[in-house]
Amino acid sequence: MAIDDHVDLEGFMNGVKARNPGQPEFVQAVQEVAEDVFDYISDKEAYHEYQILRRIAEPDRVVSFRVCWEDDNGNTRVQRGWRVQNNNSIGPYKGGLRFHRDVTESVLKFLAFEQTFKNSLTGLPMGGAKGGANFNPKGKSDHEVMRFCQSFMTELYRHVGEDIDVPAGDIGVGAREIGYMFGQYKRITNKFVGVLTGKGLEFGGSLIRTEATGYGAIYFLQRMLQRKDESIEGKRCVISGSGNVATHAAEKVIHLGGTVLTLSDSGGYIYDEDGISPEKLAWVKEHKTLRRGRISDYADEFKGSKFYPGERPWSVPCDLAAPCATQNELDENDARALVANGCIGVAEGANMPTTLDGVHVFKDAKLLYAPGKAANAGGVAVSGLEMSQNSARISWSEDELQNLLVEIMNNIHDRCVEYGRTEDDTYIDYVKGANIAGFVKVADAMLAYGVV
Ligand code: NDP
Repeated sequence: MAIDDHVDLEGFMNGVKARNPGQPEFVQAVQEVAEDVFDYISDKEAYHEYQILRRIAEPDRVVSFRVCWEDDNGNTRVQRGWRVQNNNSIGPYKGGLRFHRDVTESVLKFLAFEQTFKNSLTGLPMGGAKGGANFNPKGKSDHEVMRFCQSFMTELYRHVGEDIDVPAGDIGVGAREIGYMFGQYKRITNKFVGVLTGKGLEFGGSLIRTEATGYGAIYFLQRMLQRKDESIEGKRCVISGSGNVATHAAEKVIHLGGTVLTLSDSGGYIYDEDGISPEKLAWVKEHKTLRRGRISDYADEFKGSKFYPGERPWSVPCDLAAPCATQNELDENDARALVANGCIGVAEGANMPTTLDGVHVFKDAKLLYAPGKAANAGGVAVSGLEMSQNSARISWSEDELQNLLVEIMNNIHDRCVEYGRTEDDTYIDYVKGANIAGFVKVADAMLAYGVV
């Protein structure tokens, strides 16, 4: 019998907390998974004997490194970069890079852990990783961002590769940053290979990669609603964020006949009671990406809308909600407000945007609630398809990729249903479904490898 065998959930979590001091986000992510997985493995001896959950919750490795760069005034600046390679049991490590002031090892460990389950759910051969730096791209010139990205890749290149670890974008890392990093990798290694995804179409990128996370989250929401003979058409939707995921989620809601009432950023949210039209959304995309502007400017641009500084949009009455900004942006009170206002479905475009207490409110109210690791898997799924296209040196058409994305999201949904049915079959617990379905594939591969 293994040393830690058959400890209860509390004992297991006490161990996780003790081994990861000062890492609340990571502990929170492990707790959310352990709550479901413990129950599932209670009668499965091999998972205990080989300490599978304990091993998935211990990253294969965490690399941290110094990133020096020069700003436009000639000052030397020093940042910290990381790559957390959580688990490569089912394929090369895969997961985004985040450049944000608040990035810490805890945040990246939680994201890499979540990514392991998400990538497993896609059905594609990808392990879980995440990386980034405590670099704030806001207010930096293109040249400063370029110098930072080059310096970052000058260290990262040792740890990644098309069959080892394939990073992508995340908060603060879009097409511009991926281009600079890919260029530097190619320059150092003299190899043109698919080492990053989210690349420009001219150099190996895939069609619909940019749209895939936001679109995928709404396809998942649509599938949940269809099971209840409902649809997005005619529904009012509240969305947070105004970056890649939020704007593409909004685009898909509008496309499917819904009305988008809000968008936000770290400064506050805008409420447009007339609904955000495709033209207004096009303005937001351009404003946020090309002009790197703030969402507050929307209220000056479009009469009838209002900006709420320092607030989050969850008190706005709606039928559907899609948190698409960042972790822990929707707490217990926000969840209660959504339920009280009649919201029937929530799909998370962001990673872990709802706190654990908030999740419990949604589950208790039997809301259709799709956790990020299932609902936002469309992005990494199309990244997986980008890897396949790069390996085969081909490009698939937009139609082919759209069909594959819908198929993958529907499959993820159906696997969540398979593992997430409550015993009385009255409710689908999508969190439990995603956790267990994601766990099983990784766990079984680990069992096959023995103790490594
Ligand atoms: P972007 O950088 O394009 O946009 C992020 C958005 O979130 C911005 O509007 C930003 O506002 C807002 N935001 C960031 N931090 C905070 C904060 N602390 N409080 C409130 N708002 C905040 O990132 P993405 O759209 O790519 O990512 C959004 C979420 O989706 C993240 O959780 C990411 O991990 C997740 N995700 C992304 C995928 C992708 O393919 N891009 C794939 C799967 C998940 P501001 O401009 O003020 O910072």
